[in-house]
Amino acid sequence: PGKKVLIVYAHQEPKSFNGSLLKIAVEELTKQGCSVTVSDLYAMQFEPRATRNDIVGPLHNSEAFNYGVETWEAYKRGGLSKDLVEEQKKVQEADLLIFQFPLFWFNMPAILKGWMDRVLVQGFAYDLSKAYDGGLLQDKLSLFSFTTGGSKEKYAIRGDIRYLLWPMQHGIMHFCGVKVLEPHICYAPEHASEEKRKEMLTAWTQRLKTLWKEEPIDCSPEWYFK
Ligand code: FAD
Ligand code: ZN
Repeated sequence: PGKKVLIVYAHQEPKSFNGSLLKIAVEELTKQGCSVTVSDLYAMQFEPRATRNDIVGPLHNSEAFNYGVETWEAYKRGGLSKDLVEEQKKVQEADLLIFQFPLFWFNMPAILKGWMDRVLVQGFAYDLSKAYDGGLLQDKLSLFSFTTGGSKEKYAIRGDIRYLLWPMQHGIMHFCGVKVLEPHICYAPEHASEEKRKEMLTAWTQRLKTLWKEEPIDCSPEWYFK
């Protein structure tokens, strides 16, 4: 109760399975007394491209553009574009970040990757010697909640789905100091029966009921590659 949650949501269609998972999370967490903010990236027409438009005012070095350096400098002088400042404010205030998306090519959709690229700026999310356990977004939790096209059985044959979480959970969240909760994976909703789909949605509600009692995973290579 009283916790702040930011859900970063990447699906075009509210009637989709992802849309239903989002709706459940908003309803359940609100019911618990959490304050929930949603960044509905497609609805916002969120810009995924990392360009010089992200810097307001003069560039630090206008001779040769370096996105990382320019956004870092712009962050320090309060010169990031308005959309980035707004997202950073939501992140700053949140106790928990939930990412809700369909798996695209073993990864997050480009619009969500663009959110990561543009919002988690140096100086805001991490700094030179402030990364991983020393990252700047400490005391926050994250949870990757996603759907797949492939079945659980196929993923078990091809390889552990945890491999593909390494760049997302460890490379991004852990790097920024954010703790990681167990991912929530709904396998192949398109190929499931209506009954099975309802079960998956109920399981998400159930998980959210005890979410705040969960311990973060040990986000080290062993969790992913053991
Ligand atoms: P939907 O099609 O929206 O939902 C499935 C069904 O659930 C629909 O019939 C919907 O009506 C129904 N539904 C919605 N709400 C409810 C409700 N409340 N109760 C009951 N039923 C409901 N998959 C992989 O596994 N690996 C990949 O690498 C991969 N790469 C992809 C790359 C691209 C570019 C694309 C487009 C897809 C890729 N996929 C991949 C597949 C993708 O992950 C799945 O299509 C997606 O996860 C399905 O989720 P959805 O929300 O879009 O499903
Ligand atoms: Zn890690």
